[in-house]
Amino acid sequence: MSDKIIVAGVSVDTRHWIGGRRVASASGETFPDVSPIDGQPLGEIARGGPVEAEAAVAAAREAFPVWAATSRAERARILHAIAEGVDRRLEELAIVETTDNGALLRSHRRGVMPRVAHNFRFFADWLLSLEHEDFETRGHTNHVSWDPAGPCVLITPWNAPLMLATWKVAPALAAGNTVVLKPAEWSPLTASLLADIAAEAGLPAGVLNVVQGYGAEIGDALTSHPDVRRISFTGSVPTAKRIAASAAAHLTPLSLELGGKSPLLVFADADLDVAVDLAVEQYDNAGQVCLAATRFLVEESVAEEFTRRFVEKASGLRQGDPRDESTDIGPNIHPRQLEKIDGFVRRALAAGARAVIGGHRKDGQYYAPTLLTDVAQDSEIVQEEVFGPVLTLQTFSDEDEAVRLANGTRFGLAATVATGDPERAARVTARLVAGTVWVNCFFVRDLQAPFGGSRQSGVGREGGTWSFDFYCDLKNTVTAP
Ligand code: NAD
Repeated sequence: MSDKIIVAGVSVDTRHWIGGRRVASASGETFPDVSPIDGQPLGEIARGGPVEAEAAVAAAREAFPVWAATSRAERARILHAIAEGVDRRLEELAIVETTDNGALLRSHRRGVMPRVAHNFRFFADWLLSLEHEDFETRGHTNHVSWDPAGPCVLITPWNAPLMLATWKVAPALAAGNTVVLKPAEWSPLTASLLADIAAEAGLPAGVLNVVQGYGAEIGDALTSHPDVRRISFTGSVPTAKRIAASAAAHLTPLSLELGGKSPLLVFADADLDVAVDLAVEQYDNAGQVCLAATRFLVEESVAEEFTRRFVEKASGLRQGDPRDESTDIGPNIHPRQLEKIDGFVRRALAAGARAVIGGHRKDGQYYAPTLLTDVAQDSEIVQEEVFGPVLTLQTFSDEDEAVRLANGTRFGLAATVATGDPERAARVTARLVAGTVWVNCFFVRDLQAPFGGSRQSGVGREGGTWSFDFYCDLKNTVTAP
């Protein structure tokens, strides 16, 4: 196997990054990486297993004492240097990510990769401002400190690979921990470039390790390892349950950022242009967004008009090559994912749903943007996450029904409310079960705020101080007067 592949003109090392060195898998095995844009093979990637998991955790354990003892200022300086490296290689990261996972190049250039750099800058700066006021008890001071916890295992999905990885890597490193990152096997490339960038920025060997491979083969060895002090996972509910069971072996603390089936509630008093814009945005990333408001809940009196305007606007979306600036919707990640999406739609149609638009596959790895109506609240298509460009529409007659439908799944990741009445917005928001609620907007969020899901959409919150609460061992030191 060649150690490096050229992807869109960029050289990417296909091996693991362990203890500051590139290593092939002990077994010599690899797995194929394929571009969803045209099904072309990109290369063979090192296929890790328990041996690589052990080596990576050992490297993280060894590097931990020195990194944990490194001053906050020095850790922050290196994180800023990583952000600068991301900025310098932004174009390369953008095109490699697009080639690997099929998401829009223009989003990677203007939104996602700048956010990757921001993840590092934000957590570096937050670290420097992290202080708690001391508490006083009968003259004794209680001083709270955020101590580094140890090696962290970070496991991430393919829908926003580098953005989601760095959302965890940055606070974990800032906190003084060492990291083993396991990116998704359908989009392994930018994690490898991140290892290069971190090394160039002066991050000491073993502080960040990247292992590649299938989750089922390398995952358990990472998540059940006794030396791992934190596991942060973003991905699906079934995998989260396996990880939680595996982590139970050593009661390793977990942060789980999982799937959703979030609602968009459109009240009759909403600005319908705003509501329709929000609705069409849900096709972003070909529907492969955990936060996507995939269930439209629309007040009866405006449902017809909303649908008419939605169809008009959605029909103007251009689907095609994600490298093309004018493309709005790219391919779905993998033939298996496409099969899954199509299966959901076939079964919904067979159960009586009507496709207002779409409802079928297109050539290559593309799925027609779809809106389904005549769907029952307890049907599979309303209850299960599709993770493709498939939306449903139901109507409601009053606020109570809207809230009941909105909260009527096992998920609770996000919700979006379109209304022109601020009092209604406050009333409805208070009753929604969701980690994030957007009112007349979508996707905007400050990294200082807590992020996570309720019910089966997740366990715990990350963001700002919440990230440090998770990645650190909080210590209260009580000193006598
Ligand atoms: P997935 O659960 O199949 O895989 C996620 C990661 O887990 C991959 O790296 C995979 O290799 C690894 N994995 C698989 N089995 C494992 C095991 N036994 N042990 C350890 N690791 C294992 O999810 P996916 O299909 O890659 O991602 C899509 C899912 O992620 C959707 O449900 C989506 O909603 C969710 N998601 C959530 C958020 C969020 O912030 N809440 C963000 C993005 C995606």
